Amino acid sequence: MDARPNIAAARDKLLFTPGPLTTSSSVKQAMLHDAGSWHFEFNALVKRIRDKLLALAGLSSSAGYEAILVQGSGTFGVEAVIASAIPPAGSLLVLVNGAYGERIVQMAQYLKLRHEVLRTPEDAAPDLQVLDRMLGAEKGITHVAVVHCETTTGILNPIYQIGQIVRQHGRAYIVDAMSSFGAIPIDLGGAGIDYLISSANKCIEGVPGFSFVIARRAALLATEGFARSLSLDLLGQLRCFEKNGQFRYTPPTHAILAFEQALRELDDEGGITARGERYRRNQEVLAQGMKRLGFRVYLDPGVQSCIITSFRFPADPKFTFAAFYGLLSDKGFIIYPGKISQADTFRIGSIGRIFEADVRALLAAIGETIKEMGIRMN
Ligand SMILES: *Cc1c(COP(=O)(O)O)cnc(C)c1O
Repeated sequence: MDARPNIAAARDKLLFTPGPLTTSSSVKQAMLHDAGSWHFEFNALVKRIRDKLLALAGLSSSAGYEAILVQGSGTFGVEAVIASAIPPAGSLLVLVNGAYGERIVQMAQYLKLRHEVLRTPEDAAPDLQVLDRMLGAEKGITHVAVVHCETTTGILNPIYQIGQIVRQHGRAYIVDAMSSFGAIPIDLGGAGIDYLISSANKCIEGVPGFSFVIARRAALLATEGFARSLSLDLLGQLRCFEKNGQFRYTPPTHAILAFEQALRELDDEGGITARGERYRRNQEVLAQGMKRLGFRVYLDPGVQSCIITSFRFPADPKFTFAAFYGLLSDKGFIIYPGKISQADTFRIGSIGRIFEADVRALLAAIGETIKEMGIRMN
């Protein structure tokens, strides 16, 4: 007897989170196939996806970059770069203004890499003058890493200005563009990026299962023998794609089938610009609606991205995040706890397969919820 619940029959709750994100039903349906990972059709699909990622990044196939898929969530892609790119005698400078920057520091610690950290408060961009001074004074630093959209708060870091300083000092540049690639155009050449990392289930709206790295080919080819991990050896993975078209180990075949459909739907929507506009509209409607309800945003609008927004807890002590979250979940909406160390906040994402009407429905549910909880918004 088949006792499985009919999951498809129930309407999924909408995810207003930094990931995993809501995906379209056609993306989910694309997974209803078993693909042989060694089969030529699947290998051709992987090649098409790698080429398409370069095209999305505005790079022609002769621009000198490679797109490399890495099994696992986004963090695995970042760790593949950190574990593979830095020479044995090298040193990594990490610019930190949130939890994802801290995670890169943690990777450096686990990998026993020499590293430095330049921390700024979670509501402030990295200090460019200090960066310039550090790179001038500390000749041992070979690589600089920064998070583009720090999903901790939603702050957008100035990757072009940072890249200019990194390039002036002749260092390599790593950008975690996990939550921005696919919605915010990024000029890798213009920013001087050597390694950019993103994943299947952020702005491209595929399902979770793999990340991808867009690497400057010459930089990556020069890392022979540097990898400190077998499964996360980025150059090893590229070599295998180039030798036989395959991942080195079992690929997330279903997630890749879904990703092909997600890429098609990104094109159908009008590409990165149109998707970014939808997210910007979602974020505007959200921020305005929340303000009307009496909530205050955490970030200055000048640095706020269209990806995710942090809101301060209402001052009324009757507010608890757990109760607020639970009542919204009952109404079909999933929001996200805060990750900020210095302030009590929660977060609402504006990315994934969600539209203005969904944001308006969420706002109505939030209005109802604060009434149910009896919270005075002042
Ligand atoms: C989502 C995200 C990651 C990766 O998280 P995973 O849970 O490993 O997919 C890394 N950096 C940023 C900025 C992110 O938003």
